[in-house]
Amino acid sequence: MIVCKFGGTSVASAEQIQKVAAIVKANPARKIVAVSAPGKRSGDDIKVTDLLIELANAALKNEQVEEKIQNVVNRFQAIAEGLHLDNSICDVIAEDLRERVQGDQTNEELFIDSIKAAGEDNNAKLIAAYFTSIGMPARYVSPKSGLVVNDLPERTFALPEAYENLAVLKETKEIIVFPGFFGYTKAGVLRTFDRGGSDITGSILAAAVEAELYENFTDVDCVFSANPKVVNDPVEIKEITYREMRELSYAGFSVFHDEALMPVYKIGVPVNIKNTNNPSAPGTRIVARRPATGRPVTGISADSGFSTLYVSKYLMNREVGFGRRLLQILEDENISYEHTPSGLDDISVIMRSHQLTPENETRIIERVKNELQAEHVEMRHGFSMIVIVGEGMRHNTGLAARAATAISQTGANIEMINQGSSEVSLVFGVLQEYENQILQALYKEFFAHA
Ligand code: ASP
Repeated sequence: MIVCKFGGTSVASAEQIQKVAAIVKANPARKIVAVSAPGKRSGDDIKVTDLLIELANAALKNEQVEEKIQNVVNRFQAIAEGLHLDNSICDVIAEDLRERVQGDQTNEELFIDSIKAAGEDNNAKLIAAYFTSIGMPARYVSPKSGLVVNDLPERTFALPEAYENLAVLKETKEIIVFPGFFGYTKAGVLRTFDRGGSDITGSILAAAVEAELYENFTDVDCVFSANPKVVNDPVEIKEITYREMRELSYAGFSVFHDEALMPVYKIGVPVNIKNTNNPSAPGTRIVARRPATGRPVTGISADSGFSTLYVSKYLMNREVGFGRRLLQILEDENISYEHTPSGLDDISVIMRSHQLTPENETRIIERVKNELQAEHVEMRHGFSMIVIVGEGMRHNTGLAARAATAISQTGANIEMINQGSSEVSLVFGVLQEYENQILQALYKEFFAHA
């Protein structure tokens, strides 16, 4: 059995959904189909999920919502008409949206979640109806049937019983169309995953039914070794390990959600990233192990939006519990960190800047000064992390030197290096403005010369 997931652009219009049907029909093993909400039809289009977020926010502010509901319905209407489906399906969708808007607003996050999920939920119903209408017997299955997730305040993840519950889908005769992006708590409250989270749903389903393959259909032929918007004509990645993909998607490789690897990785279901618009292209396979390619580096990624909390105190290395107390201050502010490079008397804690506000930043700095008696405390912004990834890197000497030389040629200073914690990656912290130049220089070093 194959589980496939179709992303937003793959289900953005009637024409795209016809391609999806042809792909599913072409292989009878494709029995479970997870779908996103309709995404962008062209560069300047708006994703249905974004329309729904606007709708939710308007409802929370007690503003007029009817026009916003209509914007969403219009998107589905265009699809339904193009697929020659009965128009009454749009009345059902409009009714569903109105009901959601009337829902409980006590917790704003959960209220927004319940509206955000309407894109996937209604799209799955519509696609199941379309499949059936063209002679491909299909059934919509709600995440309520078993995709159990945790409660607030933690970010959403599937509980172990979700896998047990969803295993029954293995027995299906019809094609199952399952909405991506959300699940229900034990108490029946809807919660969405992070943006792009339909990848996670597909992966949970693939793990639950122990699929032979998880096909993730998107709008690119494959994963590239570097961002094609920055590097000219980068090498295509044919095969990549879970660990490599995890490291690359951490820093900017947005083709596949970084949280989506965990469920399939645990039980070893291979993933194939494929293109709905070019399904005969082999795509990129994500596997547990792959043969060596002769190239130590598989990919280079870069992501901006990092800040560093720099703390120095003489004899810090002798002070038992210093690191714990420092990280506790961040935990109290509900901030997660990414790296903690440290020296004898200083430590930097690197985090995603979006978690910071002028208020929590001031509180953090004051507390570190007062409670830890640090001599110097500073929050610096505007960093990018450049990540060089490859299973072959461990066995290769001089790689860090080559990377550092290539970076130095751009004139950028290396603010941080993290090597060794992960066996497959080497991370450089640099000032954001050098990001693209560095990516190009590193690509040239490891791919053009390799
Ligand atoms: N529709 C959601 C989003 O736009 C989830 C997804 O497409 O994976 O983030």
